[in-house]
Amino acid sequence: MNNTILFCITILCITFSQMANAGVAKAGFAERDITPKMGIKRPGVYRKRLHTSIHDPCKVRAAVFDDGKKKVVLVSVDALVFRRPQVLAARKLIHQETGIKKNAILISATHSHSSGPTFTILDGEYDHADELVQELAYTHSLRADPAYLKHVINQLVEAVVTANSSLTPVEMGFASGKEGKVSFNRRFKMKNGLSYTNPRQGNPGIINPAGPIDPEVGVIAVWSDRKKERSEDALLGCIINFACHPTANPPGISANYIYYLEKEIRSIMGEESIVVFLGGASGDINIFDTQSPHQLSYGRAAGKLVGGQVGAAACSVMLKMGSTKKLTLDFKQKILNIPRRKPTPEKVGQARKIAGNLKQITLNPTLWQFSKETVLLDALIQKNPIREVEIQAIQIGPTVFLATPSELFCQYGLNQKKESPFPLTYVVSLANGCVGYVPTEEAFGKNGGGYETRLTAYSNLIPSAGRLMTDAGIALAKEMKPTAIPPRPSAAKFKEAWNYGAVPPELK
Ligand SMILES: [Zn+2]
Repeated sequence: MNNTILFCITILCITFSQMANAGVAKAGFAERDITPKMGIKRPGVYRKRLHTSIHDPCKVRAAVFDDGKKKVVLVSVDALVFRRPQVLAARKLIHQETGIKKNAILISATHSHSSGPTFTILDGEYDHADELVQELAYTHSLRADPAYLKHVINQLVEAVVTANSSLTPVEMGFASGKEGKVSFNRRFKMKNGLSYTNPRQGNPGIINPAGPIDPEVGVIAVWSDRKKERSEDALLGCIINFACHPTANPPGISANYIYYLEKEIRSIMGEESIVVFLGGASGDINIFDTQSPHQLSYGRAAGKLVGGQVGAAACSVMLKMGSTKKLTLDFKQKILNIPRRKPTPEKVGQARKIAGNLKQITLNPTLWQFSKETVLLDALIQKNPIREVEIQAIQIGPTVFLATPSELFCQYGLNQKKESPFPLTYVVSLANGCVGYVPTEEAFGKNGGGYETRLTAYSNLIPSAGRLMTDAGIALAKEMKPTAIPPRPSAAKFKEAWNYGAVPPELK
């Protein structure tokens, strides 16, 4: 048998086996409001600050997929961080209400820096520690609001239960677009041999960015009834994946640029559609162009720019993509146990002196803040020197979502995309909990440094953590069987040229 025939038979076998395994595609979407009340604490800053106005609603948005054999759930929460205990509580309730398997549920925080108090310190977290630690943690740090957390869990579960009960046969499209002008690596190699985070515009010490960006805009689109005329399609909802910190911060409580992303997609694709946004590997990616000589946009303008551009890229993909009514789902999970980095006893002793002197809060706030972080981290290490890190892979047809509970550096996301056997691989940050920033090993090296490599109660895993997490994600993806991207419809067969246009120039 010659090679071409063998190749064709192999392709046919793969296609037939895919068709045999694929079930009827069903999906359901729902969203619920989680806008915090005014006067509530604002996370995302080390100092305590209060929200005083509402700019736009914060939401939980849920998508449930069903292939007849398995179900998977994707949830996004407009929150800076959604911690592990709350994720486990929500998964348990969803399982009780719907029977959906707990590790088939992905819950990701959008990382909106203008959202409600789901972060940082949870009740009871430092009850094991001494008096100084408890005072620093409970009186002088930002605490999550237990009543608000309960509300978010309830709304999240209700959104998933509603999406599950509205499962309906659908047509689905899979493709990705590009938006390379609104996200920037925020770390820079400096002339002094180190790498700095946000060194500020005009800094003469900047050489170049210390890492890449990822311009890919990942899209899964779901229609209840797809017409030939694309503008009449009824888009039920979509999943959007993009790597960039939501730090636009319009004035007041806000879903951040995700609000404008949703606005853009709804204006083009249908006002009723639900937009589930999952943040990519954006640990070192921000919206600010530090190397620009021009004044940058902040607040509402920045939100419109990023959300509008990413939304437009997503719409352009959705308006052209092919689609299918068949679906194959899968999900896998692996728990890694990764040690924390430990501050030296001398450093802890010094930090206790500085953090215990409350005059330092005003005298030297940055020194006091990071001393307090060292003290809190030391207490966390005493309780739990190793962190549980859930790696999750969720397959939706030709797409795999590789999720980690971290602010993963962009390079790791690109590595996962390169090594993955799937036609479309989307990396999800801050999923199923949070273990802080996970920089590259290079960032911990002699030319490294910057904000994300500081040793704090928030970010403290060993330097190889990112590589371990990335490799585990790729290994899970390799255990799955990707399906092919449904192709775009072919052009009609050529018959004749347009007879108005197929003529020589007419001069007289
Ligand atoms: Zn962040």
